[in-house]
Amino acid sequence: MAETVIMVTGGSGLVGHGIQLALEEDKKPNEKWIFLSSKDADLRDREATKLLFEKYNPTHVIHLAAVIKALSNNMEDNCKLLRVNCQINDVVLDLCKEYKVQKVVSCLSTCIFPDKITYPIDETLIYNGSPHSSNYGYSFAKRMVDVMNHVYNDQYGCHFTSVIPCNIFGPHDNFSLTEGNVMPGLIHKAYLAKRDDQPFVICGTGKPLRQFIYSVDLGRLIIWVLREYPEIKPIILAADEKDEISIRDATELVIKAFGYKGKIVHDVSKSDGQFRKTASIAKLRKYLPDFKFTPTKQAIEETVDWFRKNYETAKK
Ligand code: NAP
Ligand code: GDP
Repeated sequence: MAETVIMVTGGSGLVGHGIQLALEEDKKPNEKWIFLSSKDADLRDREATKLLFEKYNPTHVIHLAAVIKALSNNMEDNCKLLRVNCQINDVVLDLCKEYKVQKVVSCLSTCIFPDKITYPIDETLIYNGSPHSSNYGYSFAKRMVDVMNHVYNDQYGCHFTSVIPCNIFGPHDNFSLTEGNVMPGLIHKAYLAKRDDQPFVICGTGKPLRQFIYSVDLGRLIIWVLREYPEIKPIILAADEKDEISIRDATELVIKAFGYKGKIVHDVSKSDGQFRKTASIAKLRKYLPDFKFTPTKQAIEETVDWFRKNYETAKK
């Protein structure tokens, strides 16, 4: 059987590790997986990236590399997030065409959807309005990946597709208090509140709603997309709609996992961001009606356990 060589850009991050954990139970003998980090090459640099294609000769690419920032930084950094992500995506996808990669799966995000829209969101609504102003640089760069997937398919017959995950969390996340996403931020804050016997501070009102997906579940689904999903059009990968929770509910699950019983304070000077981004997974369910997501409580407990054990070395 011919060997499939799968090169994963951004393989050292949260989602890359989710795929690596998922592969522990689902390895195929004819598949060779290569997980890249920025140390292998700066993907904005076409010549440096070309050397990776020469070295590994990938038949398939999972394109995860991106620069991501949390809400507070997005507003200051829209220009940087737009430019850097467009540069990376342009180099990676065009080299995939040049080196005749058979299939590419890129990672978008539910924040690309229009801010003013009816819920639940589905894959057909991406271009029906502007994304939320807090992260339009990042969001428009991500939308352009879908545009590129279609034009490369129309013009060159490339099989480039994409997935649209909701908020992700799990081991190897960025647990920075200022630059991380909400779940790793809450986990780090709960760790410190418990350790130092301090109040636990939630940014904003805690009322916004979010769907979360455990990085290991996302890893399993991305592997399925790579092997089986036939479309160019994107597919939403998110928890079931009924499992959408408020930031306050997420906080309760995190502090329970730590056994923290102290005071909880809301810092309402901090932005709430988008109120909700509820996404429908009807398309995913059409393909995989029986896929079982890890219950959020269990996924949070496993992530908290990982963070405690890896506190010294975790990205924070
Ligand atoms: P992450 O943990 O921040 O990892 C980012 C990865 O990209 C790292 O491997 C990083 O390498 C690499 N990278 C960044 N800039 C690079 C450059 N110029 N050249 C080469 N590599 C570069 O990200 P993640 O959370 O796993 O996200 C993976 C994908 O999912 C991204 O496309 C993101 O937009 C999307 N996504 C994430 C979320 C979320 O909640 N986290 C939600 C929806 C969608 P180093 O490790 O060497 O820095
Ligand atoms: P988003 O889903 O793209 O908006 O990004 P986030 O993952 O950063 O989630 C933002 C939501 O979580 C907002 O409603 C924030 O006010 C709220 N939040 C509460 N505490 C924190 C925290 O410690 N870090 C972050 N990033 N968000 C927090």
